[in-house]
Amino acid sequence: MSTLTPQAVVDILARALPGAKPPVALHQPEFAGAEWEYVKDCLDTGWVSSVGAYVDRFERMLAEACGIGHAVAVVNGTAALHVALKLAGVGPGDEVIVPALTFVATANAVALCGAIPHFAECDEANFGLDARLLDSYLAEVGERDGALLRNRRTGRRIAAIMPVHIFGHPADINALGEVAAGYGLALVEDAAEALGSSWRGRPCGSFGLVSALSFNGNKIATTGGGGAILTDDPKLAARAKHLTTTAKLPHRWEFVHDEAAFNYRLPNLNAALGCAQIELLAKTVERKRAIAEAYRRAFADLPDARLAVEPDGAHSNYWLNALVLAPEAAHLHEAILEATNDAGYQTRPAWRPLHLLAMYRDCPRMDLTVTESLARRVINLPSSAMLAECLA
Ligand SMILES: *Cc1c(COP(=O)(O)O)cnc(C)c1O
Repeated sequence: MSTLTPQAVVDILARALPGAKPPVALHQPEFAGAEWEYVKDCLDTGWVSSVGAYVDRFERMLAEACGIGHAVAVVNGTAALHVALKLAGVGPGDEVIVPALTFVATANAVALCGAIPHFAECDEANFGLDARLLDSYLAEVGERDGALLRNRRTGRRIAAIMPVHIFGHPADINALGEVAAGYGLALVEDAAEALGSSWRGRPCGSFGLVSALSFNGNKIATTGGGGAILTDDPKLAARAKHLTTTAKLPHRWEFVHDEAAFNYRLPNLNAALGCAQIELLAKTVERKRAIAEAYRRAFADLPDARLAVEPDGAHSNYWLNALVLAPEAAHLHEAILEATNDAGYQTRPAWRPLHLLAMYRDCPRMDLTVTESLARRVINLPSSAMLAECLA
């Protein structure tokens, strides 16, 4: 058995990916399908902007991929989350439960609504919100006020819970849904990293009253930049479309708008790229899973570190593989990041926990011991789909 050293991690990466010549990126997009054809079609026909057949087609493909009634394509994942929260009734002065260990966009979307992120603790195994801890925390901090739940410390309404499927691994979503239902809170799902993942056979993105996807360049499928709002409720879907298209009333030539709204609509050009990406999604997920399996085997004998694997009952898209150091090995975190990046394997730590960022420092939060510990121990490994062709 080897010992955990920065060089041991470099050696294992090199052995797991014999066909990959450094520099190896953390996550690269891939255009191996009809991307060129569909984008050229937009240019040839002049349909490049916010109206066009690819937008409708992209939305239908997403709804099908996520097993849900409606998808509304928007300019990015943050915009999707912003509108999702509005649709769920989140407004100025409300608090929304979000994990502290997530990409900053999750909390930014709350702030864009004039609401306040309320940071909750994550689970060591799946990185998502810890449902059991959240339940007992809400019992302690929450106070019923008619149908509302108030934070007894701030007096503000707690309006929603926003779970995130971190690195593509499904959070404990049914238990979190039960916590939300138990306290009368809306469940808004940040599925930005989890397109193609499912939990007990049900796709991520289909659990929230409203859910959100991202198609940023580093996600499992990309439109350059893009996002989508998902919901089963036809009224919410219609409202999503209205709010994201300047609230224009349908008319052949008149420009009449009935509220101050957003220009969040995804251009046809981007949707064309997205259609080609979704056509290959199932194959991409399979390849990502093969990479994860190769890493799992390669790191199996390394002490004081584990490779993150999908939770029981989950089928993960393994968007970003994560090596998790044991607490005793946390002091090696920086040195491993340095050695791997020096060797041309792009790795990175998890995000700085959001309650430690300047603008969110004073937000309400529960005890975040696990979050802070994980942030010092997670190392994301190169996970581009094309690495499936470089495995041992
Ligand atoms: C990528 C991402 C987003 C936002 O996506 P953008 O398209 O970059 O705005 C939101 N939440 C999480 C967890 C993400 O990873």
